[in-house]
Amino acid sequence: MDTIRSILRELRDKRAGTTELAAKAAGSSFLQGIPADYLSDSGLTRTDIAGKLQRFADCADWIEFKEYGDGQHRLDNAHYCKQPAICEICADRVQSRRRDRLAPAISAAAALADSDGRHVLRPYFLTFTVAPGDDVERQIDKLQSTFRAFRKKGQRRGDHYSGGEWGKVAGAVARIEIKKGQGSGLPHVHLHALAFCSERLDIEILAASRRNALNREHGAGQIPREEYARNAARYRELLSWDFAGNAVTTTIPVSKLSEEWLDASGGVSCNVDVRPVHHEGPRGISAKKRRRLQAMSYERSICEQTREIFKYTSMLDFMDPDFTCRVLVGTHGRRLFSTYGIFFNPKDGRPEDPRDFEGSDLSDSGAPAVAIYRIAWNKSRGSYSDPVPVEIAQARALADSLRSETLSAQGKLLGQYRRDRAEFCGLRGVLSPAAVVEMLDSRKDFFRGQVSRLWEHFKQSRAWCILGVDPPWGIPE
Ligand SMILES: [Zn+2]
Repeated sequence: MDTIRSILRELRDKRAGTTELAAKAAGSSFLQGIPADYLSDSGLTRTDIAGKLQRFADCADWIEFKEYGDGQHRLDNAHYCKQPAICEICADRVQSRRRDRLAPAISAAAALADSDGRHVLRPYFLTFTVAPGDDVERQIDKLQSTFRAFRKKGQRRGDHYSGGEWGKVAGAVARIEIKKGQGSGLPHVHLHALAFCSERLDIEILAASRRNALNREHGAGQIPREEYARNAARYRELLSWDFAGNAVTTTIPVSKLSEEWLDASGGVSCNVDVRPVHHEGPRGISAKKRRRLQAMSYERSICEQTREIFKYTSMLDFMDPDFTCRVLVGTHGRRLFSTYGIFFNPKDGRPEDPRDFEGSDLSDSGAPAVAIYRIAWNKSRGSYSDPVPVEIAQARALADSLRSETLSAQGKLLGQYRRDRAEFCGLRGVLSPAAVVEMLDSRKDFFRGQVSRLWEHFKQSRAWCILGVDPPWGIPE
């Protein structure tokens, strides 16, 4: 029961923040400011956005947990809003699942050694940036297309690799992060990647002989900035615009890797931060931290230092309702997490499957589940109610099969609904915006009606009594 109590405490605290933010976002100037016939590039109408904010406000308004024969309790199921880009509750859940799934592969990649016991792959932490802009969606597009072009430079062509730095990457995990720029308030979109490379990445601005000479002259690691600019092995033109909108080119020193990123961006972005990950940690950490890392095995230390690749930016850090709306619209239908090479998993980045529950039928010690309890959020009290038992094991199996049938029927309706929506969105430019929005909204109403009828049938079967699930059991967006 202690596990459940701590889960509830944590959820209650997070809900306090999400509820407040959702309410503010619903009344934000962004939502109030958009016209009735607004349709985002991602295909969202005003009604869609309001609906998504409502789901955000209702996230985790009920949860269910399982009790096992050995007395263990585990969170089994909950009503999540499934919008990790804006919801802290969902972000935490997605983050911990990814970590659980990928940590063993990362540890194995770090441990990979040749017959002499030398590590085969070098881990790097990379951060790629594009120039800031006020449109989240376009910025994500720009970052993703630049990253694609950058990876292509290292792809296999015929029998050989084309020589790009990405060709050295055996496997990588990448995540897009959106932050609110300090001062400007504009969204900053970054791509963080953890990459395991078969060779050292070429990130040197100075040629080796030049670097050695300068190190001798200034002392190791003390080379002044301007010396880099004067002695670089490579230079490139960086394109930018001044306040009046005139194009300005600046010649900058680049490494082979940053040159490839700059070329991939069409000459406008040169910012790549590359950090090799070492057993003893990065330069500048405290002696205590370093001792702690050194005491760990090499693989442990690498995993520990690269945990942030799973981190989800929480919008609650900003508590900015306008920004929340922008991120909600800009990330809709976007793939923000991806895996490559030895870490590749086709499921990454796809929307979550609503049937993907976390509860297992057996506890850690192998004891079977004996009961399920449901806890609902009490709005007026601002806390969770007492647990109510909702099932008996065998009856649940029956109800579960009815639920999967209903879900599969709903899946088919949803497929058609999404195809229709995409088709309607394609009519922009042919029909007036108002007509397209009206078609989208009335198609949504129709879809909702279909789904409600489906769950009405489920309700009449009384399966919901056994499962303790309110039909309709979550209308998908
Ligand atoms: Zn949520």
